[in-house]
Amino acid sequence: MIGFGQAGGKIVDKFVEYDQRHGSDIVRAAVAVNSAKADLMGLTNIPQEQRVLIGQSRVKGHGVGADNELGAEVAEEDIDEVQGAIDGIPVHEVDAFLVVSGLGGGTGSGGAPVLAKHLKRIYTEPVYGLGILPGSDEGGIYTLNAARSFQTFVREVDNLLVFDNDAWRKTGESVQGGYDEINDEIVRRFGILFGAGEVSAGQEVAESVVDSSEIINTLSGGGVSTVGYASESVEEKQSGGLLSRLTGNGGGDDTLDTAHTTNRITSLVRKAALGRLTLPCEIEGTERALLVMAGPPRHLNRKGIERGRKWLEEQTGSMEVRGGDYPVTGSGFVASVILLSGVTNVPRIKELQQVAIEAQDNIDEINRESDDNLQNLVNDDEDELESLF
Ligand code: GDP
Repeated sequence: MIGFGQAGGKIVDKFVEYDQRHGSDIVRAAVAVNSAKADLMGLTNIPQEQRVLIGQSRVKGHGVGADNELGAEVAEEDIDEVQGAIDGIPVHEVDAFLVVSGLGGGTGSGGAPVLAKHLKRIYTEPVYGLGILPGSDEGGIYTLNAARSFQTFVREVDNLLVFDNDAWRKTGESVQGGYDEINDEIVRRFGILFGAGEVSAGQEVAESVVDSSEIINTLSGGGVSTVGYASESVEEKQSGGLLSRLTGNGGGDDTLDTAHTTNRITSLVRKAALGRLTLPCEIEGTERALLVMAGPPRHLNRKGIERGRKWLEEQTGSMEVRGGDYPVTGSGFVASVILLSGVTNVPRIKELQQVAIEAQDNIDEINRESDDNLQNLVNDDEDELESLF
């Protein structure tokens, strides 16, 4: 996982923390890249030697502002420094690269697509992006940056997973507090999704465990992806022990449980697909989907997942809907995570592009006007004065 820019670095930093807490083995190695020294220093879990400062000769460690063209330039100039950090990773052990970045700023917005292009040229492993769209209250320049970066990033990665800050922002919250919560949400959703591909044989007994190849196949074909999530807490009592056999309580309960378990799963699948997605969109027309049911094995069953999968097929119209278990004991909840890959009906993107074009026109006009205004100020009305040289 490579975090580019401030948002990218913070999110990857959080993934590493999540990984350590859950022992989920998602992040084989983490790298943070930035043109702002202070942002790199603010990270906690990414090792120092895996933090790369780029553009030092140009911006002296102070960042590129919100200039994503400059962000792309410094990334290109210093790509060898980034490669240096990646050289320390046993790449043959990774399933894929994930480049994480906020698309509204400068460093990540410009740099992430440059890095993705570089990685694709060098490695055979898939290169995915996780792009964060800005809130609509961030203003025209951030929207313009995001629209341009989005277009470029989608082209350079094998699939772009998108999270829209705008759909998740809460009013009346401090920016920092808001981001902390949003970042937790990002890490939870993608953590379960990517964690599902890491279950090793014999770790838990499950009916049909999701494999990393299923995630890769769902993402292959490219385009834009979004992720849905829903969860419900469950009791994790010990079952099948001596006591239940003695009291003769085992059989009857289990049959009742099966229907209940199946219903819970199908309802969680609906909630995840129809609730708030990381990038809100129409799910009909989705090209490929993957359903992951995570939770204690006795609360998962094949019938529920099969029903949920069928329902997803109907809703998306896709013939390629995969599904499976992610057994996690001790979590205290059952969760459904749905990866919708190759979504095309996304009003939010169209709106973002519209606002970006308006911002671009406004910026051009303001630049022209301010040139004129400056000329008017500096030159005397009748042009009677002469410059010195
Ligand atoms: P950069 O360092 O120049 O790449 O820019 P930033 O990463 O600071 O900001 C880019 C965009 O990312 C902003 O416009 C915000 O929309 C978003 N952003 C910044 N920080 C965070 C964060 O911690 N979490 C999330 N979800 N988004 C963030």
